[in-house]
Amino acid sequence: MAVAFFVMVNISFMAMRENAISIKAKANESSDDFQDIRYTTVGNDTEKEYLSEEQIAAEDKWIEEEKKREEAPKEEPKEVVEIYTPPVGAKIVYLTFDDGPGPDTNRLLDTLKKYDVKATFFVTCGRAQYRDAIKRAYDEGHTIGLHTCSHDYGRIYASDEAYFNDLNEVSNLVRDITGKESKMIRFPGGSSNTVSKQYSAGIMSRLVAEVGNRGYVYFDWNVSSGDAGNIYDANSVYNNITRSLKGDYSIVLQHDIKSFSVDAVESVIKFGKQYGFTFKALDESSPTAHHRINN
Ligand SMILES: [Zn+2]
Repeated sequence: MAVAFFVMVNISFMAMRENAISIKAKANESSDDFQDIRYTTVGNDTEKEYLSEEQIAAEDKWIEEEKKREEAPKEEPKEVVEIYTPPVGAKIVYLTFDDGPGPDTNRLLDTLKKYDVKATFFVTCGRAQYRDAIKRAYDEGHTIGLHTCSHDYGRIYASDEAYFNDLNEVSNLVRDITGKESKMIRFPGGSSNTVSKQYSAGIMSRLVAEVGNRGYVYFDWNVSSGDAGNIYDANSVYNNITRSLKGDYSIVLQHDIKSFSVDAVESVIKFGKQYGFTFKALDESSPTAHHRINN
């Protein structure tokens, strides 16, 4: 009985708290259970309630806690920020884009222009409809490198002669478009590729020597965006790049024929600038990040 009453009182007290006047008085009634009376007046009605000391103590405690909650300073929700400490060094970033030009190359050039960032394009012959982008990239101060015309592994790595024939095709194309001959190259698959083994054993070992004899400089990379692997979103590209930036120099591998990879570029640039990295286009005297040859 006492327990049921206690619950009822508390519910009515909490419900009426906002618009009721509550008076507690010492009880005259003799009772083992109830020592205090509370008169609660709502409008013209006054309710008489018997309260035990425990009930009063519980209500006082509740009022006190409620007051504290109301007075406590409201905390702003905290954003979770990952701590990033940039590496120490010259912090040069060479953004490089392979396999273009493609439908997203112009959009990429817009982004680079917006942030005044120069990059490097290792181009293929691609489709004729996108070749204007090679001209635009060159005119806007980016470096045009050669990546072979066909990018067809079976064709380019069939023999040393086949490789140079294919390279000459894209070299001539770039010269016709820009008026300048490029002596900077990147091997499809990189110099460390093993896919060439199935077409010609030892061809990479021969080619890296021969391109040097012919006055070319070849570039690999030391930061991979992973955009040619099993990722398909800009956020993963962004994370792969920004987490791997080096203190001295970073040659970043991306593909401008991958739309999601182009999507990541603006965020990468913002990140780089925020943490003191400098973006540059490769030239013939830049670091080359050569890989170990595997064929
Ligand atoms: Zn490629």
